[in-house]
Amino acid sequence: MSFGFSRSFFQPLQNQFHNKSMARYRTYLIFGAPGSGKGTQGKTLGTIPGFFHCACGDVFRSIDTSTELGQKFLEYSSRGELVPDEITLKLWQVRINDCVQTHTFRPATDTLVLDGIPRNVRQAELMADIIDVKRVFYLNCPDRSALVERLKKRALKDNRLDDANEKVIHHRLDTYERESRPLLDYYGKDLIEEIDASLTPIEVFGKIVNAILRDRQDS
Ligand code: ADP
Repeated sequence: MSFGFSRSFFQPLQNQFHNKSMARYRTYLIFGAPGSGKGTQGKTLGTIPGFFHCACGDVFRSIDTSTELGQKFLEYSSRGELVPDEITLKLWQVRINDCVQTHTFRPATDTLVLDGIPRNVRQAELMADIIDVKRVFYLNCPDRSALVERLKKRALKDNRLDDANEKVIHHRLDTYERESRPLLDYYGKDLIEEIDASLTPIEVFGKIVNAILRDRQDS
């Protein structure tokens, strides 16, 4: 199997770029269902010096869709399913490593802001030697119909295949419930800052910033 990456792409995940003796990246996770506003919040936080934002969905969408890897992404995402963990994690590591090499992400001074990854418990376990999760901002939106409406609007605006029909949207929300939600138990309530995702973007952002400032005062 080849996705157009070098042989080393398929070497075991751990140790490829990051070994246990290296410091783990100080990390905030933006977590929530599709349509909960993770991307908006992550992007905004990433504009502030000292924070580096990386959205896993954006990493996938930047791949040339004519490559085998790009085709794999389209195959899974258009069905509303997660891309297999090994492919996802290695692709993410290649991207983060590039950002470190080019100094766009400076682990010594920057906090990494992740959205869309880890997306299930296995990914979290595979990433545990690499990221030191300091907070999980959980954008909670119990109203499924509000999420569906947001995703339908986004489909028109961003031309996203995976938001294009309601059946796929529901499948994505089911995938989130089944595979991603268990991450809340994995990280535990001490790390989780729950925020009402139905608030306006500026209100949600205010709550994230308040929690970050509060954590700094406490430490
Ligand atoms: P959303 O903003 O709706 O949560 P994303 O842009 O984060 O969606 O992701 C779009 C698609 O990319 C997902 O439905 C999935 O197919 C794939 N994807 C993104 N992140 C991951 C991941 N960590 N693991 C597996 N698949 C992923």
